Amino acid sequence: MKIKLENLKVLFSEDQIQTRIKELATELNKFYKGEEVYAICVLKGAVLFAIDLVKSLDMPLKMEFIKLSSYAGGTTTTGKVNAVDISLPDLNGKNVLIIEDIVDTGLTAKFLLEFIKINFKTKSTKFCSLLDKKITRKVEVEPDYYGFEIDNKFVVGYGLDYEGYFRNLRYIGYAETK
Ligand code: 5GP
Repeated sequence: MKIKLENLKVLFSEDQIQTRIKELATELNKFYKGEEVYAICVLKGAVLFAIDLVKSLDMPLKMEFIKLSSYAGGTTTTGKVNAVDISLPDLNGKNVLIIEDIVDTGLTAKFLLEFIKINFKTKSTKFCSLLDKKITRKVEVEPDYYGFEIDNKFVVGYGLDYEGYFRNLRYIGYAETK
């Protein structure tokens, strides 16, 4: 079944998302205590979340963008993470905050955390995901911070896509696909 806008049900409204982001930012501001942070946004899904989150962070901050993919356009992961563009500056001695849209199987998060660990000796590395689908995890990895836990639904909106569409929605919605 194709996902259509008129069939979407709201899972998290714009207000719920923005309120939760402010709570996450408060936690992060408390953790970093004004220390400089390198915020790494994982394209494309995390872009709206990352932009709204950094607006409420009050420490000196640099933004980096990397591009990974594990979905081939549908609603299930390929089970393999593709590093489309992962060029990063020197992160040795830096506080690194990875900003992701959703942790599903955990493969992407694990890949990224290992990539950072192998290549840099950071001061700290934290993983912040807007959504956490704990129930579908295939590898052991937990985000340090997350906005909402969800069950096994394919969600779209607020950066998350279905075949490239719906990233521009202000809310997060879902549609039954089977
Ligand atoms: P993982 O590697 O944890 O299985 O998946 C991470 C990536 O899969 C996310 O960054 C996201 O792009 C995609 N993904 C996982 N679940 C969903 C979902 O429910 N909806 C959408 N649109 N993408 C998802």
